[in-house]
Amino acid sequence: MAFYRTYRPQTIAQLDSEYIREILYSFFSTKKTPQSVLLTGPKGLGKTSAARIIAKVVNCTGRRKDAKTIDPCNKCSECVSISSGSYLDVLEIDGASNRGIDEIRDLREKVKLSPASAQKKVYIIDEVHMLTTEAFNALLKTLEEPPTHVMFILCTTELQKVPATILSRCFHISFEVATEDELLRSLDRIAKGEGIKIEKEALKKVASLALGSFRDGAKVLEELGFFAKKKQITLSMVEAQYRVSHMQMFVNDLLASFAQKDVQKGFLVIQKTVKQGVDMRYFIEEITKTLHRVLLESVEKKQTPIESGFSFTLAEIQTLAVFLDSAYQKTKYSPIQELPLELVLVQWVRQDVPAVQSSDPQLAQIPPKDFLGKLIEKVKLSNHSIAGVLRGSAIDSFEKNKLVLTTPYAFHKDRLEDKQVQSILAKACEDICGTRVNISVIHRPKGGEAI
Ligand SMILES: [Zn+2]
Repeated sequence: MAFYRTYRPQTIAQLDSEYIREILYSFFSTKKTPQSVLLTGPKGLGKTSAARIIAKVVNCTGRRKDAKTIDPCNKCSECVSISSGSYLDVLEIDGASNRGIDEIRDLREKVKLSPASAQKKVYIIDEVHMLTTEAFNALLKTLEEPPTHVMFILCTTELQKVPATILSRCFHISFEVATEDELLRSLDRIAKGEGIKIEKEALKKVASLALGSFRDGAKVLEELGFFAKKKQITLSMVEAQYRVSHMQMFVNDLLASFAQKDVQKGFLVIQKTVKQGVDMRYFIEEITKTLHRVLLESVEKKQTPIESGFSFTLAEIQTLAVFLDSAYQKTKYSPIQELPLELVLVQWVRQDVPAVQSSDPQLAQIPPKDFLGKLIEKVKLSNHSIAGVLRGSAIDSFEKNKLVLTTPYAFHKDRLEDKQVQSILAKACEDICGTRVNISVIHRPKGGEAI
């Protein structure tokens, strides 16, 4: 049996999400427990486990009178049969295959009947967003005035598809993506239960591969346990198994494609990553982390060139971060995992990134006859990142077809002196002046002398 199912939490205390533990304890501490609950959130976060625990809490007969907790005993016949899914008064209904009006009408009739033996008949409707509008309307009538012996637990991954009228009748519990600590708690419980030996760093890597899902984390750990064959699982074992060691190379290559606005190259990098079996959400996370480092470097004005030598303006970083965030959300539900990221690249190349407004007087210096402005506009058409570097530069002199630029950062000077960049600049200058222009660059730190 899969680890995730074997190690399903059986009590509120065992739930790995701190927020859900707290909210469930407070849910049962009220005098009149709500009769309809809506559990929402992504897959693999324990909604079904929580639903079963709720069913056990309301029906457990083995809890001692002086018990300090409302958690179920998991020993009485009610608890045992609810855990195994065989209890007659706790019905789990799949909303996707019982979505029509007839099924819900049928349910409404059965709801009226008293439970066979339980204190409360519990209806757990999974994937409730799949119900038709008519079925939702029929369900709403029951939710408005439910018989006292009934409790409804509706579960869905798509809250936005649940009508507001249904939502307003339910106590809503929203499951959020698991934090690293929560994932570690869950993985640690499973590893101990299975007698799996795993390095602390390796466990952390598994948590990062789980992408906020308890179920995914359990799956990764299960696979690793299988391959490790009772040996201790090390970080390098995890990296080899999930091919994450080359990740930074892929990340740099892709960011360089963004900087160069090279769709073809970017698509190749993405395809290579897909072939390596890298999870796209994990890939986007790593890209975002690197972009975050670039942002911090830019803000702190350390301006050290990062490994692959690409540079972005603040506006470009901002835009790219927003694009990546949206792709990250979409990837989970996309039928083609890499499509959202590919579309980010296309969108990036097609859009016009706004210029960075600098408040630094040296950077904002108006160049002669606005030649620099024209140059930036020209260069932007073929390469945004060089345009970004130019925006941070100024014209020192422009005489007899000799253009001297100054830049406050050494790595911008290196970038502008790059052979390929020089030819782009030369062509742009020629387009503007109609003649060849010789371009040189001086590194002049702010308030300092030229170097
Ligand atoms: Zn019990």
